[in-house]
Amino acid sequence: MKKSRGGSFGAMAVDAKSDLPSYCPSASNAARRQFLKSLGALGAGAILPGGIALLAQADAHAAAATLSRIDVHHHHLSPYYKKISGPTRLTQRSDPALSNWTPAIAVEQMDQAGIATAMLSIATGGIPANLAGEQERTLVRDSNDYGAQMVRDYPGRFGLFASLPMLDVDASLKEIEYAFTTLKTDGIALMTDYGDVWPGDPMFALVFEELNRRKAVVFIHPTTPSCCAKLLPNVPASWVEYDFDTTRAVTSLLVNGTLTRCPDVRFIITHSGGTVPVLAKRVADMFPPQMAAGAPGGVEAELKKLYYDIANGANPSSLAALTQLVPMSQLLFGTDFPFVKMSITVDGFREHGFSARDVQGINNGNALRLFPRLRK
Ligand SMILES: [Zn+2]
Repeated sequence: MKKSRGGSFGAMAVDAKSDLPSYCPSASNAARRQFLKSLGALGAGAILPGGIALLAQADAHAAAATLSRIDVHHHHLSPYYKKISGPTRLTQRSDPALSNWTPAIAVEQMDQAGIATAMLSIATGGIPANLAGEQERTLVRDSNDYGAQMVRDYPGRFGLFASLPMLDVDASLKEIEYAFTTLKTDGIALMTDYGDVWPGDPMFALVFEELNRRKAVVFIHPTTPSCCAKLLPNVPASWVEYDFDTTRAVTSLLVNGTLTRCPDVRFIITHSGGTVPVLAKRVADMFPPQMAAGAPGGVEAELKKLYYDIANGANPSSLAALTQLVPMSQLLFGTDFPFVKMSITVDGFREHGFSARDVQGINNGNALRLFPRLRK
């Protein structure tokens, strides 16, 4: 199987034009064109000092194209998953690569987007709601083994977030042991709900206790609760329901005190937090005093500790809300490939106007705190 070279997370080159993959010149040039356009609009007087900041941003994005990004939101599609789930529905925002996805195509796309390492998780649909018992455990194990094989086949290019059969707590505890001990997983991928049971439910207390003991990174991916799958005809769940269920999951962890009881779990919330940042103050204002033990430092303080990927959420309004709520140290790069074209996040991220320092933090600096094994 073809192997691909790993990326580098050392000190970023200020100008890495000499060793760019085929995608990079266009990414680099686009950033520079944007910079020059900005200068033209502002006039020559803008060259100092604001122009220098713009140049630094352009160079930070260009340097990112040298395989330095860590994509924390990236899916694999094992043959068994495709067989169990049936045909994967293509959407307008899906990458064309989805229909004929292979690990090699994923690596090719990563090279073009400057992604050194992608953390793999089960396909967007997660574990189909109609699966339970042995079938569910088999799918989870297959998915975890498949992801671990990709990690081995492409050294340095992938990491793994292992899934759990959450409704079976004993089996989940066994899978945690297997995933960390045998597969050397980088973290755990949970869904925002399991059959209308959200992660803060007391039935999951033992699972989170174990994840806290292991100081696990826990990636929480949206899904559609069965209660709300078909509320709006002709509106796919991924348009709005995923973001709402993300907010339900976070609120569930909050009101049940999981965030406080498990301070060593590093949670990653997807898509710039869904509707969490917009509703944070509202939830804080209405948080019942009798639940204060669940958030002794206040609701917003708990939400500021979480990490948030910007996959398919790198747009002005989502990022404005997110960066109002949390420090820049909590933002992570993600793409949601192959269910969303990488360019949607890459372009939105580049155009947002983050400082060079923040670009570097989002590209890999913040993620390296979670995954020190990726440090060179
Ligand atoms: Zn996803």
